[in-house]
Amino acid sequence: MKVYNDSDAQPAKVKSRPVAVIGYGSQGRAHALNLKESGCEVIVGLREGSPSATKAQADGLKTMPVAEAAKAAGLVALLTPDMSHETIFASEIAPNMEAGDALLVAHGFTVLYERIKPAADIDVILVAPKGPGDLVRREYERGAGVPCLFAVHQDASGDAAAKALAYASLIGGTTAGTLETSFREETETDLFGEQAVLCGGATELVAAGFETLVDAGYAPEIAYYECLHELKLIVDLLYEGGFAKMHEFISETAIYGDLVSGPRVINDETRARMRDVLSDIRDGTFARNWIAENEAGKTEYDRMQKADLDHPIEATGRELRAMMPWLQADKNSAKKAA
Ligand code: NDP
Ligand code: MG
Ligand code: MG
Repeated sequence: MKVYNDSDAQPAKVKSRPVAVIGYGSQGRAHALNLKESGCEVIVGLREGSPSATKAQADGLKTMPVAEAAKAAGLVALLTPDMSHETIFASEIAPNMEAGDALLVAHGFTVLYERIKPAADIDVILVAPKGPGDLVRREYERGAGVPCLFAVHQDASGDAAAKALAYASLIGGTTAGTLETSFREETETDLFGEQAVLCGGATELVAAGFETLVDAGYAPEIAYYECLHELKLIVDLLYEGGFAKMHEFISETAIYGDLVSGPRVINDETRARMRDVLSDIRDGTFARNWIAENEAGKTEYDRMQKADLDHPIEATGRELRAMMPWLQADKNSAKKAA
């Protein structure tokens, strides 16, 4: 796969006109500050009375209502939560974009599932950093960057890909290395990863392991340590050096147990279920259900979330984590990732 670096990017493709960053959350703040320090004229677009405005102004950024920011800019980066895109785009952004302007997103959901329908004469591009906003900011500040994906959905100006690469370079993405994808690939793999592996898969695996031990008579505190707490050590090893680094740092007994028992838990049946999950993502069933859930006021979402958070592992975890002072100091540093 081709890796795009700084020398592949022409920053002027974006820098030559003001950039509107809509939303000042995890991604919005990092993008806005990096763009500004890379020499762009940045306008942060926020809704009336937004609590984010004070924060952006304190960081030295110019803020405006979304519509005015979109009007003044040549590129609009829509970095609010995905479920807010439809309304913001239709009411504030679309009427203020001109032929040849670019709309940029950091996740393809709303474009792929046609929640926003950009006019045919604007570029529609994606730049998705492969990390949470605070890392995108921190790496840029030390002269490096977080790898990004870029994609083009609609190329009206003939320059859409160049604009995406330019934007990636201005937030540090080509310093680290940027890869090309499509809106479909980015969206479907992102949803699959968080559902089957990162969020859905991992928490169900932890809960099932905890329940198995507790049901067999072991203390919940001990089960918590073995099935949840120590997961971090393993994930850190995987993150830093893949399977090989984990094998280097765990015992031979753990390696043998991994090899013989892992495939008994995650097996062909699990893979078949994963294919079901993927198929619901690809045929739009998941997106339809999630959009309908939002439109119905998220009551089922609230109910399921409450049930998840009522799991006995949560009460055990709260008690044990109170004995780990380093976690208390860290509790505000957790950042959204998926
Ligand atoms: P956040 O939830 O952090 O965004 C919050 C910001 O959006 C706030 O400034 C908030 O302003 C504003 N906002 C929320 N609702 C509205 C609204 N209805 N109208 C106007 N402004 C609104 O978003 P993320 O940074 O997590 O996600 C942004 C995009 O980036 C999404 O498309 C996401 O999928 C993608 N992404 C996120 C990653 C991450 O690490 N979080 C990683 C890669 C991609 P206010 O103060 O007014 O509430
Ligand atoms: Mg294994
Ligand atoms: Mg996601």
